[in-house]
Amino acid sequence: MAPRVVLTGGPAAYPFRDFLTRASVDFEYRDDEGPEGVAVCTLDDGTCLTSPTLEELARHLGLYAQPSRDVYDFAIVGAGPAGLAAAVYAASEGLTTAVLEREAPGGQAGTSAKIENYLGFPEGISGAELAARARDQALKFGAEILLLRRVERGLPEDGSFRCFLADGSELRARSVLCATGVEWRRLDVEGVDRLLYAGVYYGAAASEAPGVRDKDVFILGGGNSAGQAAMHFAGWARSVTILVRGDALAATMSEYLCERIEEATNVSVRTHAELVRVDGDDWLRTITLRDTRTGEEEVLPAHALFICIGGEPRTQWATELGLAIDEWGYLITGRQALVAKPGHWPLDRDPYPLETLLPGLFAAGDVRHGSTKRVAAAVGEGAMAVSLVHRFLEGTG
Ligand SMILES: Cc1cc2nc3c(=O)[nH]c(=O)nc-3n(C[C@H](O)[C@H](O)[C@H](O)COP(=O)(O)OP(=O)(O)OC[C@H]3O[C@@H](n4cnc5c(N)ncnc54)[C@H](O)[C@@H]3O)c2cc1C
Repeated sequence: MAPRVVLTGGPAAYPFRDFLTRASVDFEYRDDEGPEGVAVCTLDDGTCLTSPTLEELARHLGLYAQPSRDVYDFAIVGAGPAGLAAAVYAASEGLTTAVLEREAPGGQAGTSAKIENYLGFPEGISGAELAARARDQALKFGAEILLLRRVERGLPEDGSFRCFLADGSELRARSVLCATGVEWRRLDVEGVDRLLYAGVYYGAAASEAPGVRDKDVFILGGGNSAGQAAMHFAGWARSVTILVRGDALAATMSEYLCERIEEATNVSVRTHAELVRVDGDDWLRTITLRDTRTGEEEVLPAHALFICIGGEPRTQWATELGLAIDEWGYLITGRQALVAKPGHWPLDRDPYPLETLLPGLFAAGDVRHGSTKRVAAAVGEGAMAVSLVHRFLEGTG
């Protein structure tokens, strides 16, 4: 069957490859065709879009839904595992539910090539497939999933919340769940910004696997996401080298991944390695490493570098609303919030466990202070948030 989209355009096409991969849209990427540096998307109905925005492409593919109502019972910000789980439970329990997602469904989990420790999938499942299944399940129950909608801030007003979106529109809801997770921590190393998408990527960038066939690939980071990325690219690349500053992987990576890495013949771990520079003309050619013990530098040829160095929450808006956050920006909920910021809670009852200091605004998943950074934990919190939202809406608390 013909793919729904044929893409050309080298680095300029990367955001489209990434979006289509994560949105589970069948596409073909032809890196040797089309004008240099210009993203061109040719759809299966013959439509040809030159340098479109992601929103334009999504509209043509029927992935850019419009909200159907003025006010929802429940708005969920973020369609990662926590947000999608909340959407499934909320919609199936009769709440009018809208999910606002700035990119594609799946969140961090959606970028994972293979999740092997989520209950019920003994053979593992790709993050994109897990996200697609969750999305379909939420849609089946009537949730509305609004992709490519970044929520910039929210304001309580007259018993509901106004969510202001980056496109200038707004959406109202009687209760809100913040399930915005974390974003990749940025790396301040010479050359990284210039070569972004031209051989240098944040995250596992599963869409790039075919492009690294028989090439030398580097993964920066020692966590599980780095390990998964290494094993994924090992199926395509000639060599995969994991770069860590410490003296071993074991302290930061799950045992099952450490074992896989040890067994893989084309994956190696380089310890005491600090990345100091990446170089290339229009594509990554070399990386420079410094040995953290000796200070010696070495230049190595490289075709791709995937930076998997963990994430941080982006919650500046929460400060403006007077919510309690910890020193890293994670949202503090429940009674802990009362302790962290005394005198800010306006009701007689205590906040519910996932409720922030603003009654009716909840947080779940990785964005929440003290959360376990796992798919199952995010899904669990998403589900739990819905039962608390019912209590809030019923006013029984
Ligand atoms: C590569 C990788 C592999 C992993 N593998 C595993 C694994 O094997 N097993 C496991 O248990 N865990 C794994 N994890 C961790 C797991 O994916 C996370 O714990 C989980 O995704 C957290 O879910 P979440 O819904 O809280 O947040 P996220 O997954 O971070 O989702 C947040 C969503 O919110 C959206 N968003 C953010 N801000 C806004 C905004 N302002 N407006 C609208 N939308 C917004 C984001 O685009 C994103 O889609 C992995 C993580 C990574 C990065």
